[in-house]
Amino acid sequence: MDSSINKKERGFAGVSLEDLPKSHSFTSKLPGDPKVPTPESSRMATTENVQLLLPRMVKDGLFVYVKPDEHDMAKTEVLAVSPAAMRDLGLKLDEKESEEFKKFVVGNRLFEEESYPWAALYGGWQFGDWAGQLGDGRAISMFEGTNPSTGVRYEVQLKGAGRTPFSRFADGRAVLRSSIREFLVSEALNALSVPTTRALSLSYFTNEKVLRERIEPRAIVVRMAESWLRIGSFDIHRLRQQRNLLIALADYCIEEVFGGIEMIVNEAKKNGYGDAYEGLDHRYRILYKEIVRRTAETTALWQVYGFMNGVLNTDNVSVYGLSMDFGPFSFMDTYDPTFTPNHDDHFLRYSYRNTPTIMWWNLVRLGEDLAELYAVDDPAFLATEEYLSSGIPESKFEDFVGRAEKIIEEEGEFYKSVFEKHYAAGFARRLGLTQTKDTDKDGIIESALELMKVHKLDFQHFFRRLGGVSVFAKDAIDVEVIASVFLTGQRGIGVPSTEESANSIYEWLTNIYRPRLEEEGSTDDRARKSRMDNVNPKFVLRNWILDEVIERVEKLGDRKVLDHVLHLALHPFEEAWTAEEECLERYKDEQRFSGDVPMEGQGIMCSCSS
Ligand code: AMP
Ligand code: MG
Repeated sequence: MDSSINKKERGFAGVSLEDLPKSHSFTSKLPGDPKVPTPESSRMATTENVQLLLPRMVKDGLFVYVKPDEHDMAKTEVLAVSPAAMRDLGLKLDEKESEEFKKFVVGNRLFEEESYPWAALYGGWQFGDWAGQLGDGRAISMFEGTNPSTGVRYEVQLKGAGRTPFSRFADGRAVLRSSIREFLVSEALNALSVPTTRALSLSYFTNEKVLRERIEPRAIVVRMAESWLRIGSFDIHRLRQQRNLLIALADYCIEEVFGGIEMIVNEAKKNGYGDAYEGLDHRYRILYKEIVRRTAETTALWQVYGFMNGVLNTDNVSVYGLSMDFGPFSFMDTYDPTFTPNHDDHFLRYSYRNTPTIMWWNLVRLGEDLAELYAVDDPAFLATEEYLSSGIPESKFEDFVGRAEKIIEEEGEFYKSVFEKHYAAGFARRLGLTQTKDTDKDGIIESALELMKVHKLDFQHFFRRLGGVSVFAKDAIDVEVIASVFLTGQRGIGVPSTEESANSIYEWLTNIYRPRLEEEGSTDDRARKSRMDNVNPKFVLRNWILDEVIERVEKLGDRKVLDHVLHLALHPFEEAWTAEEECLERYKDEQRFSGDVPMEGQGIMCSCSS
């Protein structure tokens, strides 16, 4: 076992995979595809009517029973397992050595009696256009596992497990490159307390290749989430006018995903949103608000940590407020609000600056999906045959649209207020402030971002290094010190001179930062540093690091680097990880990975191909 795994993880006591309590509420509470109505019919289809399990339109139901591909175990290798995800799911760590676990993570061990695997239907708005049926084209859900000690239930999926009815023209497989990225970033975001889907393991196949822009090795990530539902899960039923399925899904989401209306409202009250939920008597309005709230909070945290998903189509936007479906994502290097990590995003739709707006655009699609449910004048009408077959009658349509528009508008205001609250609070924490003021967003936060933009400062290092600057020690802020702290990376073309930048930072520190700290009585540099070190990561999973990991794993057969970078991602706030005398090679990698971004590693973009 990695000797640097912290105490909490070492003391972890979990159960075996076999003993993990398993359920399948998704397939037992929701209607499935009537063409494959039971696990038995899916089993039979594999020999008698395999077309049913291959790409096609699934016109009814919310999922299809389908199994992952089987593999020759001798040709599989588990490349990495996240101890944090094992702990959170409730598995004991040494379970990863068991044959059962090794079989499970590549799709060779099913728990059919407890839960027959399935692929879920969803649709999506992609880059502004309706894309029709999408669905789990290469992810297969195996079961929901409940952590016996925390009670948290995760739906566990194999991504890259083979074709399903939702694979469209593609192969149902995932390449090692994108699997390494998804595996590591899931755990990195979680370590930063950004809500996210998780990754349990990464495996690959020594004998299987996949064709993308080039031929690449095939891999599987086992991933888990409290829910894999997306806005696109709702979109498709509205566009198909399948009102019964829309209602079934909304009810499932309320009861099974969020634990019921009472739970939603109580949680909201605990989080200081009592007023916003007060007096809402319509369950579907509460559902919409809950999704708006979660999305706003997570979007704010993405901005605070400079994280960009790169493809925020509605099929990639979680209703649980999780970061999910990682393709061309990126953490910001040099601060540039117009940066998009997606090579194909020519209109900068998914750039850093546009992210909050585009997430609201996505939430408006959800508002439209749910509109009939929350804006109907009489909720009892939703249960009638008339509604299910024809929707809102024409005579009532105008009133209905007026109500729906008003509600979406109100939720827009709510989105904005939740987003701004978390945005300001998050940046305030990163700046070492103990309180947030209404003026901070347009004041100290905006000025810090402007400083980073004009002087091309590294978004991540800025905060960590700011924590180390003694603002109150007599004569401590001097221009030379500033240059040696903030301006250590290579300076590109068109960047102000070092002297000019150091002077501007000096002015910001003395005229804006220090007075703001004084104002709230935070004049202890050491206390501020320790607060800041707990929220400002020293290690950030940047794209240049991922590129290096991929290269080393794929081309050089290096296995250690994955565990090493996973360890850094799981413990991002440490000042140092490995002592120089303990292991020089690890130490050197850590210095590089947590140091200045090399010039050629700045702002790397990715394509959607994965
Ligand atoms: P993504 O762009 O990865 O979010 O995927 C969009 C849609 O394409 C989803 O329905 C995916 O399941 C599907 N998809 C992406 N890659 C593949 C693949 N290699 N095989 C099957 N389906 C895929
Ligand atoms: Mg997706």
